[in-house]
Amino acid sequence: MGGFVEAFADPTFAVAIAVLLGVLATFAFAFFWRSQRARSAHQAMIKQERDLRRQFDAVVSSARDGVIITTPTADVAMISDAAVRMLSLRREDVLGKSIARLPIRTVDAQSRPILVHEAFAPTSGDKPRVVGVPGRRGAEDVRWLHVRARIIDGDADGVPMTVTTLSDPAGLREAAEAISRSDSQFRKAMENAPTGMALVDLEWRLMEVNRAFAEMMGSTVAALRGTPFSALSHPQDLQAERDQLQRLYDGHQTQFTVEKRYVRADGNVVWAVLDVGLVRYAGGAPDHYIVQVRDSTDDRMHSELLAHRAMHDPLTGLANRTLLQDVLQQVLEQPDAETRVGVIAVDLDGFKGLNDRFGHAAGDSALVYVAGVLRTATAGRGTVARIGGDEFVIVVQDSDCSKAMFDIAGSIHAGLKRPLQIKRHLVHLGASLGIAMADQDLILGGAPGLLSAADAAMYRAKTTGKSRTEVFEPTMHTTRENESALASELARAIENGDLILHYQPILELATRAVVGYEALVRWQHPTRGLLLPGAFLPLLEDRNLATVLGTALVEQAARFLQQSKSDTTWVSLNVSADQLGDSEFADRVLSAIGRHHLSPQRIVVELTEASLVAPNTRIRHELTELRNAGVPILLDDFGTGVSPLSYLRDLPVSGVKLDMSFVAGIPDDPAGARVSRALGALARELGLATVAEGIETEAQAEFLSGCGWRYGQGWLFGVAQPAAAALETNPQVLSSLIDPRPASAQDAMDVAGAVFGV
Ligand code: C2E
Ligand code: CA
Ligand code: CA
Repeated sequence: MGGFVEAFADPTFAVAIAVLLGVLATFAFAFFWRSQRARSAHQAMIKQERDLRRQFDAVVSSARDGVIITTPTADVAMISDAAVRMLSLRREDVLGKSIARLPIRTVDAQSRPILVHEAFAPTSGDKPRVVGVPGRRGAEDVRWLHVRARIIDGDADGVPMTVTTLSDPAGLREAAEAISRSDSQFRKAMENAPTGMALVDLEWRLMEVNRAFAEMMGSTVAALRGTPFSALSHPQDLQAERDQLQRLYDGHQTQFTVEKRYVRADGNVVWAVLDVGLVRYAGGAPDHYIVQVRDSTDDRMHSELLAHRAMHDPLTGLANRTLLQDVLQQVLEQPDAETRVGVIAVDLDGFKGLNDRFGHAAGDSALVYVAGVLRTATAGRGTVARIGGDEFVIVVQDSDCSKAMFDIAGSIHAGLKRPLQIKRHLVHLGASLGIAMADQDLILGGAPGLLSAADAAMYRAKTTGKSRTEVFEPTMHTTRENESALASELARAIENGDLILHYQPILELATRAVVGYEALVRWQHPTRGLLLPGAFLPLLEDRNLATVLGTALVEQAARFLQQSKSDTTWVSLNVSADQLGDSEFADRVLSAIGRHHLSPQRIVVELTEASLVAPNTRIRHELTELRNAGVPILLDDFGTGVSPLSYLRDLPVSGVKLDMSFVAGIPDDPAGARVSRALGALARELGLATVAEGIETEAQAEFLSGCGWRYGQGWLFGVAQPAAAALETNPQVLSSLIDPRPASAQDAMDVAGAVFGV
């Protein structure tokens, strides 16, 4: 370093150096770190320049002293950058003009004005002429220059020229001081910089690196010096900076930024952001690159993580709604989408109940389990997404899409058949599936159209029995729209108490005496009229709402019984399995019985076979609780279930209701008649009360009565009526069962006891 500074004082060397002050100073300093190798590489490059003119320009322009060449007529033929700067001129004001006319003032060493052409006249010997160039800021503002001018004979064409060199000893001294000052500052700054820094030669070899850079590459400063920068690059990113380096070298850009991967000495990959600048000589010839390197591995991973997160469901890792829509839109834009693309909408059955009963953590693990079933069933033939609580969608892409969809649907149902262990319970999950193929009409609606079609089909599956698959057809849309409008009104209707019970009489067939009523729920809808349960109960997905409704209906039934003129009749309440399990319903029934001073046999619970035999011990427990308190349980739709008959013996059941599908065939359909007779015999054998429903004709009533069905209900005897109308008709006392004594609680017990055998 010291040797270099001394060199400034040496006038022969001065021609080769000029100083770039200010911003360029930093780069100038970096120059000194060039390794010896880099310097010779650079010089070799210059030597190879064939164009003499360029070589000349390069030398002159990179010189730190100013150079002016004038013709024999004293016109300026060439003026170097440094000279232009020293004289505070503009090149275009000078070139081709007479040197005598330069727009500057000049003074001699004693500050006496002299003519410009005298100031630059040829000098003799080695001694420079001292010339002052006054500036605009008063007497002190004078730049003192050393001028040497020599006439050089022309060789080939014989035209001589004058070469004038200007040097600025004060400027050089200042520059030299600045250099040594900023040199050590720069070195220190670079060494301690928190970001990686490297000086790289024109062949992209590391000349100097700092500690941060070495650490980032998992190596040491010493080991990296002289290493080709590309040797550290990740093989796939080798060429990442190549084009940009060329543009930088050619002067098309002043710096560039690139992000690429490097392989550390330990084999790990790091992402790095490189800011690359090119340091040039004063004359503009490229010297070396200065590179700042920032470790962006964390940023990268973070942004990749965020991108993944933005597109996926955190619980199951499946695609989310956003990603699903993107994927679907993309596949629909492919040419043969019509035969290759389809959508399956999947909605779990009874998930809300599971969540309520076992808690959210259990619900979450069920969702994760289902996600696995869907993935396995799809087996790479499409994209599985979770788009809401318990809603999933599969975009299927297959050359035989129709077959693939049914295949996948089948595998999903099969996969969900295996019960899931939650805490100590085995839980059965099921799903309703809707399938929509991307046919010509549906494709027009794009991704949303196809999704809503699959959704409508899924909805149909849900309302027609659950755990099934339905294929979309256009009529489903209108139904679906109607139903979803209704579903949103239903919650309010339940809370407002707009759902009311109607009562259909149940008679003893032999005597035609009314022994009880079945309570059937109705919705008096403000615009749609009286709605039957089939129109709105399937919309009741919310378990809480089902409970609210059940409670309200128990209360209505209890009030009806209290207002009834008879103390002996009972009311059958229909209950679905999802209203049971947490003993809330049983509590309600028992508390209503207590508050309204009813004997427990006057409220009867009707349940379908399917909900009874489900291996849910909690439901059984609740039913047993009711039965033990004296509340009879009736098995509804008897004969349609698939359970072994032995189950009947073990269930807490007091009676059965023959399904009306058998009754409808009587007496013409021999099968209906035979089954009715057999089931009646079986029920009696088991000591169960027997009720036949859906009796519309006298013939049916007589036949059923004849083969042992003791009680019956149906349009023959009366439709379901509002409470007021049902209370009007004074039920006949069960004369054949017990004597018509004054009604008392004891009597009521006796009637129920006679009917249900309690
Ligand atoms: P279900 O318990 O089997 O009720 C018998 C259905 O047959 C009733 O339809 C009734 O109106 C109808 N019915 C009565 N007599 C005859 C007849 O002679 N011929 C024919 N063809 N039909 C007759 P509804 O009221 O539409 O009820 C349908 C189903 O809704 C019921 O079937 C029951 O499963 C359910 N349901 C009704 N009310 C409630 C309730 O309060 N809670 C619950 N959870 N379910 C209810
Ligand atoms: Ca019923
Ligand atoms: Ca029934």
